[in-house]
Amino acid sequence: MIVNRQFRLKRRPHGRVERADFDFLESPVPEPAEGQAVARNLYLSLDPTNRIWMTDMEQYMPPVALGEVMRGGGIGRIVASRHPGYKEGDLVSGLLGWQDYCLIGAPGELLPPAVIPDGLPIPLPTLMGACGMTGLTAYFGLTVIGEPKPGETVVVSAAAGAVGSVVGQVAKILGARVVGIAGGRQKCELLVKEFGFDAAVDYKAPDFLAQLAAATPKGVDVNFENVGGTIMEAVVARMNLYSRMPLCGMISTYNEDTAPRYDLRPFLMKRIRLQGFIITDFKDRFIEGSMQLAQWHMEGRLKSRETVVEGLDRAPEALNMLFDGTNIGKLVVRI
Ligand code: NDP
Repeated sequence: MIVNRQFRLKRRPHGRVERADFDFLESPVPEPAEGQAVARNLYLSLDPTNRIWMTDMEQYMPPVALGEVMRGGGIGRIVASRHPGYKEGDLVSGLLGWQDYCLIGAPGELLPPAVIPDGLPIPLPTLMGACGMTGLTAYFGLTVIGEPKPGETVVVSAAAGAVGSVVGQVAKILGARVVGIAGGRQKCELLVKEFGFDAAVDYKAPDFLAQLAAATPKGVDVNFENVGGTIMEAVVARMNLYSRMPLCGMISTYNEDTAPRYDLRPFLMKRIRLQGFIITDFKDRFIEGSMQLAQWHMEGRLKSRETVVEGLDRAPEALNMLFDGTNIGKLVVRI
């Protein structure tokens, strides 16, 4: 019998995720009924939003219910199909879950996985990172909400991560001056040397505020916000009149049980345009965005880094890498 291993959410974590928050169960691979298909999952995308989905709070999708397979993005290959939209051998991308096999078309499915082109000269982890959902998050959040103009200063936090590293590179392509915020000297060096940022600021250094001021002598025109908390407040303090702030994420808060409180007065005084967004807001433009990112990547103008963890069974501990900062670029699990 071929076995399907699944992580099912057993209890809601407080703080960091623990393995004991899940049951790791084995069951037979499902047989597709009429209108269903089965995908063999190949890669799992680990995202800060996995942690949000584990929490019972108001959010943009229902939280994962206790006992349910942990929700997660992934890439897989169709191994059996009785669904008109999928044929055996298709490569699919979508919410395939923390499991070896995904039954597509099952009751309660939130979004059907999309068939993606096979045979592209782009590795699968990159199709989940710089040329996938995280790349699209960076591209649309920056271009549609941030609207950087040539010569303006763009600051991005969690800059050495999946979204942040693409934000900085796209902002450079658009002619902006780019400053990344990341934890530690090594990551800051990477931002400048590998990703071509103009400057990098280490938020863990004791002189973080002085570094930020030195790197943004003309203030900040676009703050692409990934972190929240005191880092966000430090950047907001340097934002210019009529500047823009795409609010993409607030990872510093996801392991906290209580919501932070912020001073909104600078947004009024400096007429800062703050807009939160979720990548699915741009779903009608995914093809256009993907083509642009793939083109830049193939031209060598958009570099991609991935951190690949081996083995589905390591998913819960690997998720914590996003909160420890031990990932560089897109974090994926090879199943
Ligand atoms: P990353 O690859 O950027 O990984 C997370 C990084 O965040 C870590 O590497 C770490 O880098 C940094 N970090 C973690 N905790 C803290 C903290 N307390 N203070 C400062 N930095 C911290 O993840 P993603 O690129 O996938 O996601 C980045 C952000 O984008 C998240 O907030 C996520 O929720 C959001 N997002 C939003 C989407 C949307 O549709 N709105 C879609 C995808 C992502 P370091 O070593 O520098 O600390």
